[in-house]
Order: sequence, then structure tokens, then C-alpha cells
Amino acid sequence: MIRRTMTEVDVKLGIRQTLAKIDEAYSKRLKTSNAPKPLLVAVSKTKPVDLIVDGYSIGQRDFGENYIQELIEKANNPTILEHCKDIRWHFIGRLQTNKINKVVTLPNLHMVQTVHNTKLADALNKAWEKVKAANPDKQTLNVLIQINTSGEDEKSGTEPAEAVNLYRYLSEKCPNLNCQGVMTIGRFGHDYSTGPNPDFIELMSCHQRICSTFGKDPAELLVSMGMSDDFVQAIEMGSTIVRVGSSIFGARAKKNEA
Ligand SMILES: *Cc1c(COP(=O)(O)O)cnc(C)c1O
Repeated sequence: MIRRTMTEVDVKLGIRQTLAKIDEAYSKRLKTSNAPKPLLVAVSKTKPVDLIVDGYSIGQRDFGENYIQELIEKANNPTILEHCKDIRWHFIGRLQTNKINKVVTLPNLHMVQTVHNTKLADALNKAWEKVKAANPDKQTLNVLIQINTSGEDEKSGTEPAEAVNLYRYLSEKCPNLNCQGVMTIGRFGHDYSTGPNPDFIELMSCHQRICSTFGKDPAELLVSMGMSDDFVQAIEMGSTIVRVGSSIFGARAKKNEA
């Protein structure tokens, strides 16, 4: 298991400060959008369970992980099961098809944010069929479409031009999945002095195309974008889910992201 690092991190303070910044960015945006207040997903990857319990104790419910094995361990961890009964796990990493059955059966899995093609959609849809058969109270699995807005080879995601088609596929062919919106990671280290983040512009344009093609209210289709360095800018551009890790839990030992 992962141990607490030498320097103690104040997760509660980190969450409170992040929520305050979300509030402020949201209040600035209100004039132009009726989208819901952004949801904070606290990204706890590589961080120990006791820090998650700390965050949970002040009301944080949504946590994100992007390594499957780590999510499996944490979601089944006895301390988490005992102290964080209403935790909502978001899977935000690359999902290999052979791990799907492990993921869909996790306690308190709330959403898979990284559906990027029809093959993965089909596999999740099929796997959820079995979950439903065993637990009739589980209706659908929440998913987002991950879009590779930066076109980088190492980033996962469907091409922006395919977003509408993948949304159609999910709505028409995957009755066990509830596609709630779109997500991007984007290029790291955008220099905001050069203007708005092109990844956020691209994701909002996919969002817009999906809404207009399917006659959806833009406020009802979620947009997951923005991390520690840029969640405020992301909210100003329309984000409704921010995924914040290091500024809550402290820096990670190694910087190798999804
Ligand atoms: C690690 C990670 C984050 C959080 O990044 P920070 O810069 O630590 O806030 C957000 N989204 C994804 C997909 C990640 O892998």
C-alpha cells in the first residue's frame, strides 16, 4: 500500500480552498450560462486511503482514480467501506477491456469518464447488463465521452469529429449506459497569456454540436475539464466537472498522467 509522505498534507484545507475557488469562478460565469454549479472530483491517485477519509469527513463525496488496480484496491479497502459509505468513485483513466468486469462490480462506482470508442461502449454496456441482473436497483452506468482535443498520440479519447457519432451510438445502442456528457484531459501547461485554452474551446464546441444535434439543453450535458492548474479557467469556459488532484493532496511522486 501507499504510505503517507513525509510532509503532512492538509486535505481538508485543500478541499475548502478549491471549493471556494469553484464558487467564485461559478458566480462570475452565472450571467452567461444556466449550467449547474461545477462538481469537484478530488483526484486521489497515488495517495493513501487516510487522506481520502479526511476529505470525506468534511463532505467531499466524489473521488477520481485513473489506475484501475489502485481504484480496485481503494474501493474495496475496509477503511473506505466503513468510513466512506456514500463515496462516489469516478474512473478517469484508460480502461482496458479485460479489466471491465472488475470495474463495473466495484462498490460505489459512480461514473466512467473515459469512454472513447464504440468497442469500449459495447463492452461496458454488456458488462452492466450482468451487474443489473444481479442488482435490480442498479439502472444504468454513468459515462462520459472522452475526447482527444489536443490530438496528442499519448492521450486517449475519440477524435472531436467523432463525438456526435459516439454520442448517438451510446444513446441508441447502449441502453445500460447513461451518457451524461463529455470530458477531455488536454495538453499540459497551456500559457494563458496567449489566450484561452484551445482544448477547452474544442471540448465546448463538441458539447455544442452534441446538444444541437440531439436537441439537448446545454445545461444538461456535463463537461469535465480543468485540473489543479486551470480549473478556474475551465469553469469560466463552461466546465461542470473539475478533476483536481495535486492542489488538494499535494504533489505526486511521479508525473506520468493518463
Ligand atoms: C491526475 C489527473 C487529474 C488531476 O491532475 P492534477 O494536476 O493533479 O490536478 C485530472 N484528470 C486526470 C484524467 C488525471 O489523470
